[in-house]
Amino acid sequence: MTHIYNFSAGPAVLPKEVLTQAAAEMLDWHGSGMSVMEMSHRGPEFMSIYKAAERDLRELLAVPDNYKILFMQGGGLSQNALVPLNLLGHKPAGATIDFIHTGSWSAKSIKEAGKYANVNIAASCTTAVPPQREWRLTPGAAYLHMCTNETIDGVEYDFDGGVPDAADPRLDGVPLVADMSSHILSRAIDVSRYGVIFAGAQKNIGPAGVTIVIIRDDLLGQALPACPSAFDFKLVADNESMYNTPPTYGIYIAGLVFQWLKAQGGVAEMERRARVKAELLYAALDVDDFYQNRVAPANRSRMNVPFYLKDESRNEAFLAGAKARGLLQLKGHKSVGGMRASIYNAMPIEGVQALVDYLNEFAGR
Ligand SMILES: *Cc1c(COP(=O)(O)O)cnc(C)c1O
Repeated sequence: MTHIYNFSAGPAVLPKEVLTQAAAEMLDWHGSGMSVMEMSHRGPEFMSIYKAAERDLRELLAVPDNYKILFMQGGGLSQNALVPLNLLGHKPAGATIDFIHTGSWSAKSIKEAGKYANVNIAASCTTAVPPQREWRLTPGAAYLHMCTNETIDGVEYDFDGGVPDAADPRLDGVPLVADMSSHILSRAIDVSRYGVIFAGAQKNIGPAGVTIVIIRDDLLGQALPACPSAFDFKLVADNESMYNTPPTYGIYIAGLVFQWLKAQGGVAEMERRARVKAELLYAALDVDDFYQNRVAPANRSRMNVPFYLKDESRNEAFLAGAKARGLLQLKGHKSVGGMRASIYNAMPIEGVQALVDYLNEFAGR
């Protein structure tokens, strides 16, 4: 069989080693006689799995002690409601949330938050992150929301360029909330810069169904009365993500991915590989105008690479040829069309090289 490379945006490719280990442990986890799926979430076996996953994620992202890590359900989208429901309880009615709009996912966040507060779009652009000095921020905003990697539009914050710049006095006392669903664990981040970081698991962590929330302690306990108890960050934190039954099997797989990441060299190594993979792919797209990526170079995502054929009548032929070569799920999101190659942590460089070879072949180079 041709070697398969899966470029899905999510649910997405997982490390082969993780799937192999999960398969081996499926029926009998570590001599317990049970599958992880069959264990009580409060029993010693699952608690050891949970604690290791929490500890490894904390280590990988260097999460400071004054932050809690929550393993929740509901996906990234549910956080668009749960963050306002959890952060607005101590704010006056009519409080404003600032947003940086950089694409489809921040647009969804803005729409949802509008149910709970005033929203101010401080800056808007879907082909680049607007420069911070141009953001029209609200003094005393409840928080500032950003999507640091737009999975559909392929726009990623250039942290190296200092965005968000900690020295900006307008951000004093305004918690930063970041949706990092599609690039968490692919680069070093300074967690202490954020009030809340959230991420659905199915892009760079594990199977769909787990949602990671990293929250600074002082932001806990500020939920609106209407916030559902099972989604109250403080209740979830106080109960070590066991206020209700957590997505146990998903947490187990996420834990295996964290172990795999550590064995590979951690986030620093993922960052190095992501840079190499992305440079290789963008270089092939940039040879001439046969393929086009419309994102400003400094903000081109290293995880999700959308591109268009100049001659869009050849889209179907491109996808059929890719599939024949084992290059799967390259069709772009239906809202923007074209193609998209997602090259998450678990995508080996060989997969990107195989795609580059095909791009050159299809372009007749
Ligand atoms: C995939 C994604 C989401 C939505 O995740 P769901 O689990 O489908 O709710 C939200 N934000 C970003 C940036 C994403 O990539």
